[in-house]
Amino acid sequence: MTSAPLIALTLGDPAGTGPELILKALAQPDVRALGHLLVVGDAAVLARAQRYTGTTLPIRTVKKAVDAPEFAADGIAVLDLANVDAAHHQLGRIDPMCGQAAYESIKRATELALASEVGAIVTSAINKAALNAAGHHFDGHTGLLAQLCGAPGATMMLVADTLRVSHVSTHVSLRQAIDRVRPERIVKVLQLTHDAVRRLGIENPRLAVAGLNPHAGEGGLFGDEEEKFIAPAIAQARALGLDAHGPFAGDTIFFRTLQREFDAAVAMYHDQGHVAAKMLGIWRGVNVTLGLPIIRTSVEHGTDFANAGTGRGDPRSLVEAIKLAASMARNRSAVVA
Ligand SMILES: [Zn+2]
Repeated sequence: MTSAPLIALTLGDPAGTGPELILKALAQPDVRALGHLLVVGDAAVLARAQRYTGTTLPIRTVKKAVDAPEFAADGIAVLDLANVDAAHHQLGRIDPMCGQAAYESIKRATELALASEVGAIVTSAINKAALNAAGHHFDGHTGLLAQLCGAPGATMMLVADTLRVSHVSTHVSLRQAIDRVRPERIVKVLQLTHDAVRRLGIENPRLAVAGLNPHAGEGGLFGDEEEKFIAPAIAQARALGLDAHGPFAGDTIFFRTLQREFDAAVAMYHDQGHVAAKMLGIWRGVNVTLGLPIIRTSVEHGTDFANAGTGRGDPRSLVEAIKLAASMARNRSAVVA
């Protein structure tokens, strides 16, 4: 696919900085050049955000995703869900109506991607409490998208600078996370990581696998999950043709990956990978969901309620998420073939 991809952007929680960050990102000519961008959400919320961001691109509502390229040429194309009563909610507050609006935006964008009407989706931050208050009981985007797409094995890869890190488990207790360190799951995450990094244009990705215990178990002195589960998983992955290495000590593997010794690292649990990626700056990192039938990237930060309505929100993570989605959408056909 060499033509510019059509990318759907979800509005995120309307009470947070999502709408403002979208306006700031889409005001940048280099972002607009990445593809045709379509906002999925309430157009009036976006118009309100224009008042405190000072951006001036005209907002144009479209009836169908396919119309976005024409309308987005010199403005902001919005598939208007008209699902927020702006007069009856406050910026920076948890509100079930906003949780519901955020949910509907994600659902609609996902449906468009599943129907191949858009090439990728980029999601803005949601508030998990508002989502749950609206009756949608998910741990966040990843679980919600896994259900909408019927893809229970989905997992998360964080991208920050040259560090790409995917996770064997994310939102479970540490005790449960240890139980999930099993060859079948590790091999699956290695395969998903391999595929995702290929979509970023790297032909044969070098993959590093973290240990679970200090010093990757120190030869069994500090734990045996490496010998029992992780090393066999790496051997299986290599037998499948993946360039997998490890297990490596969790305290050095991410630095080595950042230095380009590897193209991606696999973390054994949430904090192991997240601390590494977020130390590089939560306002720049991108979150990619692996294992979905659609391409989805996201900002790595939250709704930033404290800055909602001030015009001070930082759009860098959203800009990086759009760049990554555009790159993956362009490389998709090459990988599928
Ligand atoms: Zn998390």
